[in-house]
Amino acid sequence: MTLKEYRSKRRFKVTPEPEGKKSSQKPEGPSRIFVVQKHSATQLHYDFRLEWNGVLLSWAVPKGPSTDPSVKRLAMHVEDHPIDYASFEGIIPAGEYGGGTVMVWDNGTWEPHVPDVNAALEKGDFKFILHGKKLHGSWVLVRTRGFGSSTKESWLLIKHRDEFASPNDITVDEPKSVSSGRLLADIASAGGGDVAKAAKGDPISAAKPPVPAKKPKKMSARRKKK
Ligand code: MN
Repeated sequence: MTLKEYRSKRRFKVTPEPEGKKSSQKPEGPSRIFVVQKHSATQLHYDFRLEWNGVLLSWAVPKGPSTDPSVKRLAMHVEDHPIDYASFEGIIPAGEYGGGTVMVWDNGTWEPHVPDVNAALEKGDFKFILHGKKLHGSWVLVRTRGFGSSTKESWLLIKHRDEFASPNDITVDEPKSVSSGRLLADIASAGGGDVAKAAKGDPISAAKPPVPAKKPKKMSARRKKK
């Protein structure tokens, strides 16, 4: 668990991403956070991050999580991220590592569903429970073979059968940020990012003609009704 690789990939004078100084990391509490960030980079993907041992363990999931237990989603293990990365939503400048638009797609807390998290991670069979705004219930990350000489491990993210399993595509049904109610194109637009590229990550049904002033209000009103 180290942020060396995370820091070595980024130029903090240029990118607004958090440097992850030790002082900004909160001590390990009883409930640990998770975040799923939707990231319009070279390829659109979802970054799945679980707090563990003072960092965010991270997997890049190209198609995002599926609530359908029959669907296995490829999850590439990537470098640990600092805890305060969990609230990062905005623009990574073009040309920088991961350049593009980042949305906080889901967040909440998680708990292990195994007696020993470190042993489960090592074994490559890691069960956990999510208490998110969109994602709930029991999930598993299973390690498969790595890709040749690549240092990155490939895993599969799979929903277990429980009352939160659903055949519906949650990435299409729930495309907006849980922290700001915005679509990717809204975030790109507000931060001077690549709006056209970001919009490709928004479901077509959600990408309505922009009504910049009123949109956030409408969304919070709709949320309150739920
Ligand atoms: Mn990413």
